[in-house]
Amino acid sequence: MPQFSGWGRNPVVTAQERIPENSGQLGAFLPLPYLPRGLGRSYGDACLPAPGHVSLSTARLKRMLSFNPTSGVLDAEGGVTLAEILDVAVPRGYFLPVTPGTRWVTLGGAIASNVHGKNHHGSGSLEHFLLELEVATPEGVFVCSPQANPDLFRATVGGYGLTGLITRAKVRMKVVASTQVECLRVRAKGLEDLFRLFDTHDGDFEYSVAWLDTLARGRGMGRGVLMLGNHAGAGKIVKVAETVRSQGETMRSMDPPVESMGKARAAVSVPFPMPGFLLNRFFLSAFNGLFYGVSGGSRRSVEAYPGFFYPLDRIGAWNLLYGRKGFFQYQCVIPDGEDAGSVGNRNVSERGIEAVLAFLSDHGLGAFLSVLKRCGDDQVMLPFCKKGYTLALDIPYRSGETLRLLDRLDELVLRHGGRVYLTKDARLSPSAFRAMYPEWRGWMETVRKYNPEARVDSAMARRLGLWDA
Ligand SMILES: Cc1cc2nc3c(=O)[nH]c(=O)nc-3n(C[C@H](O)[C@H](O)[C@H](O)COP(=O)(O)OP(=O)(O)OC[C@H]3O[C@@H](n4cnc5c(N)ncnc54)[C@H](O)[C@@H]3O)c2cc1C
Repeated sequence: MPQFSGWGRNPVVTAQERIPENSGQLGAFLPLPYLPRGLGRSYGDACLPAPGHVSLSTARLKRMLSFNPTSGVLDAEGGVTLAEILDVAVPRGYFLPVTPGTRWVTLGGAIASNVHGKNHHGSGSLEHFLLELEVATPEGVFVCSPQANPDLFRATVGGYGLTGLITRAKVRMKVVASTQVECLRVRAKGLEDLFRLFDTHDGDFEYSVAWLDTLARGRGMGRGVLMLGNHAGAGKIVKVAETVRSQGETMRSMDPPVESMGKARAAVSVPFPMPGFLLNRFFLSAFNGLFYGVSGGSRRSVEAYPGFFYPLDRIGAWNLLYGRKGFFQYQCVIPDGEDAGSVGNRNVSERGIEAVLAFLSDHGLGAFLSVLKRCGDDQVMLPFCKKGYTLALDIPYRSGETLRLLDRLDELVLRHGGRVYLTKDARLSPSAFRAMYPEWRGWMETVRKYNPEARVDSAMARRLGLWDA
């Protein structure tokens, strides 16, 4: 039987796999106990089936059914990738309204994690751009939206596949005038500097994200580079977009052009799991220091969109850098204080992030660069994003001590009112999960309404004791 893992390569499960060739075949597979799987870019066990369940791949369920170039509404099957959507939409003057840091995820997977991007502080998560979903639940196939079957909609978006298979989705795309992004990069000497840079620049830029050196200590703790961007005002694609829109053309059954796949391929690839000794503090600190050193002071540039949005996609299989044991990605959000909105209350989130960084740096837990960004509030039943700062970093899995330290980190995050992002997680305890996500019982009530017998089930759901509600 094949083995499966998420992007962190840990844990690994053995399960049967089913790969329907087209949506017509789904009727034969959906009665099985299963879990939907996209491209396995969630890091931990959210994409791993529970014992006895098959992994149901959406790899071939990827037709784009229609795209209205006047309204920008795309209707596509759940297995289409964001890379394929971009290949079709960008030449017509449209972009994804929200995108994660890789385009190698499926639409269904992105919806099931309610992904957020560098524009979360202004635009929120993917949920706000979904007009309609078709979900094949164990209780039948339903169309849902914020208006129709809203409970199913709000439990499925950010619901990690547990209500059933998202077979189709209608997404409102975003108009852009160029394939380029106007960028500003500003270097921060330390954490306070970085927070002030976010305060100063966030309002002027649609996209913002900071890369920081999680291993730096003392006054350098939190040093990093804030990267800001806006879609360029005008560019080569304007003409194409206007022509297509004025014709009012509606595309049907747009299978992504075969050659388009090549465009998004990685420039280099990691060939095999790197030896663990390379992940020592000396090497990683030197790498992070080098990045910080070459970043310069403040720099403006105009970049093609893939470089700005998907820098990691340039390196294929970069998860092998963490060696045979794999790694954890730890992403937490620490909310602003009550009466959030005024700059003063950001202080609560800032002090929480400072405490998390101090813990990481004291224990040498981080690895390569980490990501810090501002969030708004998610509206789905099991929301991750809260108005505040979110920090994401890779943590090599060294030994049982890594797990013990991460448990202590969970306690610290909880003390600051924070929560951990489940699509990145593989090890949160049921008690920590329940304390972080008090909404979980309400969400599971709806999950049970559509999936009463846990026919659709994941290793994550078992680990977190979700069915014990
Ligand atoms: C380099 C990198 C950068 C990332 N950056 C971000 C980021 O900035 N923001 C962010 O939010 N996330 C980010 N992620 C996480 C990623 O966007 C999510 O984990 C996403 O869900 C992965 O999609 P996938 O198609 O690979 O789904 P999988 O990993 O295969 O599955 C993820 C979940 O979706 C469910 N699922 C998949 N397809 C369907 C379907 N058709 N119907 C119902 N359920 C389904 C699965 O059961 C599982 O619970 C990043 C990941 C990587 C590797």
